[in-house]
Amino acid sequence: MLRRLSTGHVIWKTEDGACGSLSPQVIDMLTSWTQRETFSNEAGGLILGFIDLNTDGLLAESLTVPGRGDKRSRTSFFRSARHQHEAEQWNKENGGRGTQLGLWHTHPEPQPTPSGVDLNDCDKALKNGTFYSGGLLYLIVGTSTIGCWYARPRKSLNFLGHFEP
Ligand SMILES: [Zn+2]
Repeated sequence: MLRRLSTGHVIWKTEDGACGSLSPQVIDMLTSWTQRETFSNEAGGLILGFIDLNTDGLLAESLTVPGRGDKRSRTSFFRSARHQHEAEQWNKENGGRGTQLGLWHTHPEPQPTPSGVDLNDCDKALKNGTFYSGGLLYLIVGTSTIGCWYARPRKSLNFLGHFEP
């Protein structure tokens, strides 16, 4: 389930109670990397935010974005170790409460869906354990909509929905 609130937040929930939100700022940041032009390369990074103490909800507030060390092409994005360092920085800046909640990247297609490479990347991220243990948010920014998934170890990817930013 995915819903847009009047505040501009997008909230999501799985059938077994995992939930979270994307702030309007995160949605703006994601949209700024949309592959609008035929020459636009893929972009990506980590989703940063907080865990809500009452609901365990994943509150997405910021992103790491493409830069030094990344490899970008029309249909691929390699995330360098710099993203991990920036996530650690975010944690320190937020008194140890800030955490990495998931992964995002762009696709040059209107209604994005994860590729085989994406599914492997997601599995690897779950296994290396740098994310909040419950699972991770997986976002793909397409040219018309943003697709949202929730991934957990040893479970198939949970599709939350597409929304128009
Ligand atoms: Zn992809």
